[in-house]
Amino acid sequence: MIRIEHLSKSFKDNEVLKSISLQIEKGEVVSIIGPSGSGKTTLLRCMNLLEIPTSGTLSIGEVQVGFNGKTPSKQQKRNVQNYSGMVFQHFHLFPHKTVLENIIEAPLVVQKRRRTEVVLEAEELLGKVGLLGHKDHYSEQLSGGQKQRAAIARMLALKPEILLFDEPTSALDPELVGEVLTVIKELAKEGQTMIIVTHEMGFARDVSDRVIFIADGFIVEQGKPEDLFTTPKEERTQQFLQKVL
Ligand code: ADP
Repeated sequence: MIRIEHLSKSFKDNEVLKSISLQIEKGEVVSIIGPSGSGKTTLLRCMNLLEIPTSGTLSIGEVQVGFNGKTPSKQQKRNVQNYSGMVFQHFHLFPHKTVLENIIEAPLVVQKRRRTEVVLEAEELLGKVGLLGHKDHYSEQLSGGQKQRAAIARMLALKPEILLFDEPTSALDPELVGEVLTVIKELAKEGQTMIIVTHEMGFARDVSDRVIFIADGFIVEQGKPEDLFTTPKEERTQQFLQKVL
């Protein structure tokens, strides 16, 4: 579903991603772990063209984009962003809209779908993330965990092929982390393709088909969670896991 080849990204002189190659299959749940500042979020944002890579290629669905100094066209960006949907650390909900309004906004305005159908689907999604009872509350009235669940429902309403999660629980109080992880686990069970940047090692181990360890802009090691967490091959991975486990 996604193929990345020799993808690099620099911010001025700072080369943050260094020739990353990676492939994600349909139905796979892949977690990306690694020290702070190692390029995890930048990699995820490059997959969605929220950041434009400096070089390399990105193939996502039917779309293929080459970089090497070129800027993707608006149409290419749109195609990529229709195919994948990002859930952010800080939710990015509209605070003065209700939960339901937040969810139906893009399907109505961007996808120009019929209101009755969109509202029905939104209610179904709110049921799925446990927020149907809050559909008419303003998002600013919600707890962090509820906001993040609403943000997930909002993303699902656009029916992306791939969900990209950028540290979805790191802005939450510890007691609210579980409710968001439960929703993501449900999606994994349903076969949703997902890439998750996370600091929650127990969760990454539980939910992932594959875990990728990134440090200093490189993929140091990747594998099944039971292998990577118990018998990491690379010293850099061992050092990281010793600190966080
Ligand atoms: P991680 O997600 O692993 O913590 P990031 O991808 O957020 O790492 O950041 C990797 C590096 O890229 C950091 O040194 C960060 O300061 C830098 N960086 C990220 N985004 C930008 C930006 N928009 N402009 C300049 N530097 C950035």
